[in-house]
Amino acid sequence: LHDMLFAQHERRDSPFLHLPSGETISHGAFMERVQRIGGALRAMGLEPGDRLAVQVEKSPDAIALYGACAAQGIIFLPLNTAYTPAELSYFVTDSGAKLLLADPGRAAALSDMAARAGARFETLGVAGDGSLAEAALTADPAPPVPRREGDLAAFLYTSGTTGRSKGAMLTQGNLLSNARALVDSWRFTADDVLVHALPIFHSHGLFVAINVTLLAGGSMVFLPRFDVDAVLAAIPRASAMMGVPTFYTRLLADERFDRALGGHMRVWISGSAPMLEETHHRFEARMGSRILERYGMTETNMNTSNPYAGERRPGTVGLPLPGVELRICEPGTETEVATGATGMIEVRGPNVFRGYWQMPEKTAAELRADGWFITGDLGRRAEDGYVTIVGREKDLVISGGYNIYPREIEELIDAVPGVLESAVIGVPHPDMGEGLVAVVVPEPGRVPDESVIRDTLAQRLARFKQPRLYVMAGELPRNTMGKVQKAELRRRHGAAFA
Ligand code: ATP
Ligand code: MG
Repeated sequence: LHDMLFAQHERRDSPFLHLPSGETISHGAFMERVQRIGGALRAMGLEPGDRLAVQVEKSPDAIALYGACAAQGIIFLPLNTAYTPAELSYFVTDSGAKLLLADPGRAAALSDMAARAGARFETLGVAGDGSLAEAALTADPAPPVPRREGDLAAFLYTSGTTGRSKGAMLTQGNLLSNARALVDSWRFTADDVLVHALPIFHSHGLFVAINVTLLAGGSMVFLPRFDVDAVLAAIPRASAMMGVPTFYTRLLADERFDRALGGHMRVWISGSAPMLEETHHRFEARMGSRILERYGMTETNMNTSNPYAGERRPGTVGLPLPGVELRICEPGTETEVATGATGMIEVRGPNVFRGYWQMPEKTAAELRADGWFITGDLGRRAEDGYVTIVGREKDLVISGGYNIYPREIEELIDAVPGVLESAVIGVPHPDMGEGLVAVVVPEPGRVPDESVIRDTLAQRLARFKQPRLYVMAGELPRNTMGKVQKAELRRRHGAAFA
């Protein structure tokens, strides 16, 4: 990883990070920081194979820290900045981290907890402050240690959408193979300037966005978070953007987002959560090009992508990336379903992780001995290979003995005038096993007519797929990655039919 992603940038004076302050950090200056932070970490006692738990705000030093870990063979373990000290304690203890690194402002809240978990505590701020940043100023640059493909590079915790987050063990080879596949597929080069407004504790903003940029040798407009004004201001100097679907819906809600502003962009990429077909169509009508949607997960990096040059088909996640095998099996079996039928998506390839940290049973249940990973996502594959995600197995509703895929119902509800979006869930029902509840979010200032929704669905869907209960809501609960928290909705509406 160090050799392919980082070493090539030593002493290059080309721009790497364009910061909101107007300052630009060159590749060479960034690499110096990588080497000095590496030296500081080693001086703090971290050895190859040790885990470094990190909860810091997005900053150039936070990326240099990732580079330092790659170079020193330290396992990088980034954590969501929203986690509370109690949640962090679980991750630090669970991972056996040797050091916890956090924002200087959180030292009072976290240093005792780190000590109890047996971890050293250090700080890193966003403005070059913090004990690690200071130590790096005077540290001797550390040369990289040799690593093999199978050596662990990172523990990345899953988003926790369906349950407690799991630590996915990712190797140097997992990350590198995926970065190569993405640079080739999406044609990134040293001329690219990527708008980076994603968090960097998650696969999308960290490994997809940053690894691709480092491997291709381009630069990033590095924004602390998604802010419409800041993103609109960044677009004129950029050539590419990566975002979650909510980035695109928020941009489309702003009239300043138009072809004059963004028509020059080479590619707009979306993933981490499903993008509504309607959003694809609105985007194309406004911008004159199609968003490139791809599908991945913490455990596997990216699995499939719509093509750069061929047809980008709305509602699908495209075709398997080079080197990635994909099959669709009858859930609970290894028998592949017929083309076009819905089943469990399984993937295999150099991108697939080593297993869940200290969860041997879960690993054995989801990662087959011959390398196939059972993703937990249900989908189908068209004759020409395009994959459509139908939803998560955990969100499948079984009512009256029938399997119901919420997405089919949600799409029909979303198409009713006045509806912005919806989520269909199953909650316990005395007769049916599970009964369907539709949570509907109206468009701003509108009140969709429930009887129109009911009639529309009655014309299109079998009786057992028609929700029994409709609930209007101001918004759907989402996490930082824009994922709808269906488990939270099931909790809220769990007693609907009791
Ligand atoms: P957890 O595994 O802890 O419940 P999570 O699965 O949300 O959380 P991530 O690894 O961040 O954690 O997300 C991967 C999931 O995101 C995929 O399994 C898939 O369900 C969803 N996903 C990613 N990209 C897309 C996409 N383009 N369309 C639909 N779903 C997507
Ligand atoms: Mg998952």
